[in-house]
Amino acid sequence: MNRSAGAGRVGIIVVAAGSGSRLGAVLPKALVPLAGQPILGHALQGVLACPGVTAVVVVAPPGHRSEAEAACRQGGSEYAATASGRGSPRTAVPVAVVGGGAERGDSVAAGLAALPADVDIVLVHDAARCLTPVVVFERVVAAVRGGASAVVPGLPVVDTIKAVDAAGLVVATPARSTLRAIQTPQGFRRDVLERAHALGGHATDDATLVERLGEPVLVIEGDPRAVKVTTAHDLETAARLLAT
Ligand code: C5P
Repeated sequence: MNRSAGAGRVGIIVVAAGSGSRLGAVLPKALVPLAGQPILGHALQGVLACPGVTAVVVVAPPGHRSEAEAACRQGGSEYAATASGRGSPRTAVPVAVVGGGAERGDSVAAGLAALPADVDIVLVHDAARCLTPVVVFERVVAAVRGGASAVVPGLPVVDTIKAVDAAGLVVATPARSTLRAIQTPQGFRRDVLERAHALGGHATDDATLVERLGEPVLVIEGDPRAVKVTTAHDLETAARLLAT
């Protein structure tokens, strides 16, 4: 256990630089409107409500930084209005916006480089998981504060998952009971995440890079509302969830 993580200051990197080609939209996915504001603005609601958060870095789609800044302002003021309606204190968390890279890993690295030096717990969150409830952020932070170096939320899978080769032939069928569908936010001790990114390599999430270091990664309970908006169907689902 790293003692400094127990009382650690939390920084959150929101990766929002993806193109969203699978959504079929003209705009990058994080800027696509959902119930009156960009997906990125919704994502900020859970991020700003995260306990102990002292800094947020949003990694914007290349060439769309000013639109991302506007989405952050809208998301921030919606959050402040909701928080004050609940009688919660309106703490101002600084939100910095930086440009993203070609691969998700490049975008996370740009976010890491922009985090203030005094942050020692880092959460990496997909803007596309824009309806992730704050309870998931709370669970992830609590597990890192409790001594885990790397923590990811996950859900049991309902389908049978098969690994296939390039010809479509099945090469393995892992036992379903051992599988989890992994979500974000993923939480890390900062030194562990920095070492993992220094190693580099392609990965679809940050925990994979930490696994390559040989560090343990703890899976905790995720939430069905943390669905990643990827297709037009997901966008409709998110709109329905917001309306209920
Ligand atoms: O493409 P994928 O669904 O894995 O993207 C997950 C998250 O990573 C999204 O929020 C997306 O905006 C972000 N991303 C990024 N930079 C990239 C690719 C994806 O910030 N180059």
